[in-house]
Amino acid sequence: MEQVSLVLTPEEAKNSEAIKIQLFQKTGQHFPHIRWRKRSIDARSRNIKINGTFDCSNEELPNRIRSFSFKEVHESNPVHIIGAGPAGLFAALNALLLGYKPIIFERGKTVRKRRRDLAKIAKEHVVNSDSNYCFGEGGAGTYSDGKLYTRSKKRGDVELVLELLVFFGASEDILIDAHPHIGTNKLPKIIENIRSFILSKGGEIHFESKVTGIQRIKNKIVSLEINHQKKQSVNHVILATGHSARDVFHMLHQEGIKLLPKPFALGVRVEHSQDLIDRIQYHGRLNDEYLPPSAYSLVDQIDGKGVYSFCMCPGGIIAPCATENGEVVTNGWSPSKRNNPYSNAGIVVSIDPSDFDNPEDPLVCLRFQQAVEHACYEATGNNQKVPAQRLLDFVEGKQSENFPRSSYTPGIESVRLDLLLPPFIAHRLQKAFRSFDKKMPGFLTNDAVVHAPESRTSSPVFIPRDRERLHHVEVPNLYPCAEGAGYAGGIVSAAIDGMKCMERVTQTVS
Ligand SMILES: Cc1cc2nc3c(=O)[nH]c(=O)nc-3n(C[C@H](O)[C@H](O)[C@H](O)COP(=O)(O)OP(=O)(O)OC[C@H]3O[C@@H](n4cnc5c(N)ncnc54)[C@H](O)[C@@H]3O)c2cc1C
Repeated sequence: MEQVSLVLTPEEAKNSEAIKIQLFQKTGQHFPHIRWRKRSIDARSRNIKINGTFDCSNEELPNRIRSFSFKEVHESNPVHIIGAGPAGLFAALNALLLGYKPIIFERGKTVRKRRRDLAKIAKEHVVNSDSNYCFGEGGAGTYSDGKLYTRSKKRGDVELVLELLVFFGASEDILIDAHPHIGTNKLPKIIENIRSFILSKGGEIHFESKVTGIQRIKNKIVSLEINHQKKQSVNHVILATGHSARDVFHMLHQEGIKLLPKPFALGVRVEHSQDLIDRIQYHGRLNDEYLPPSAYSLVDQIDGKGVYSFCMCPGGIIAPCATENGEVVTNGWSPSKRNNPYSNAGIVVSIDPSDFDNPEDPLVCLRFQQAVEHACYEATGNNQKVPAQRLLDFVEGKQSENFPRSSYTPGIESVRLDLLLPPFIAHRLQKAFRSFDKKMPGFLTNDAVVHAPESRTSSPVFIPRDRERLHHVEVPNLYPCAEGAGYAGGIVSAAIDGMKCMERVTQTVS
């Protein structure tokens, strides 16, 4: 098999005959078997190009994904996992690969039941604190955008996670695209497939089973309390509860388990029309059937702090991601086709524990995050509407009289966000938007709307663990895992960390 690289126009990249001709011109051979290996868009100049690498062969091409040898684990040693997000589920899959029985406790409901609770947030403004955009089967990953790139390839085997996702039903395109994306409409089925598979091999998943307490003898956890009642004896526990489980952080803190404050980021979610972003990014090319809806990534240093775009969703929707009544939170998702007329992204300011008077307090950043979410909730009259301001009005400090249509279904209310947000955040955001307009002329417009807050970017708490063995620094059978513990940011890195924690557990067991 040969690998051949081509630089194509967007039109050529969609035309298999044109690709065959170019491959022949480059290699002098007619390959009967050809497939994309890697694909990326280069839109830096007006002359937009698709960079492609192709597998070319005279024989049948091998499978794109490796074969996995999952074990039957009905009678195997158990490992307990708290949380069925990407980290918990991939920890469980690794348990099956390694021959251990995963037993997962998940506070939320199955994918299907969970959907009803999401509808209630939008329509009735009621948040179920165990079943919402962050909690439930598949965790925050299920109704997420499903972008699958991670900035740090050093964290582990990214390809393995992508191949497992393909094994459970994702399109093979995620192995090809430089910026792979699944989409909110496709993720739930993949999560359900993972669940069925874990159960079929002898693993256990207990839904609506919130871990409400832990019991220790000396420094070892001996049992978990489920739903304030049942006790479950445990040997090893992977804690994969995500960054939104504030009650878990409080529980650990009260239990005297060491936590540290962690830098995170907070700001707003800005929504433009996708047409406007396409026009800027594709140099005026609009509604081009050969190009996907465009994305952007922006970053600047403003008064000594990083301000950057986060979780940009082309063709996306802004979602109500609060995990309790009494707060509002925004985040974004998009369907696989990214075919909504909106484009949204978090624009956030880096926050450090040293920004506060009591930087040693492990929960200082968490409390700040919660206070901003609560202030935004109160600002709109105590419901799931979010405070909003037109973008230029935000930068110039003016009240917005009206709004273009927003994708945020619970609704938006005109609020002076420049006054509501803490000044050290609002002022940096104002400066950053001016700077971003220089990088993407037309970005700073009153046709865009700022929604607040974007606050669940990463965990505000760090659960320290041994660098090699990955267990908690003081509790040797507790494995703080993935995003909630501060070791991952996003679906892929959470999945990688889940797999790594399971590997370390099994090294201890055997
Ligand atoms: C709307 C939205 C869009 C996103 N888009 C993307 C994206 O495009 N790409 C990307 O990489 N990331 C995205 N993310 C972030 C991504 O979903 C998270 O980074 C990822 O899910 C973290 O995985 P995790 O397993 O560490 O934690 P989580 O996914 O948060 O899972 C934790 C699980 O633990 C459960 N749990 C919590 N407390 C308890 C308890 N006491 N007992 C039992 N169970 C408990 C929760 O119910 C939850 O299911 C998005 C998130 C949201 C909300």
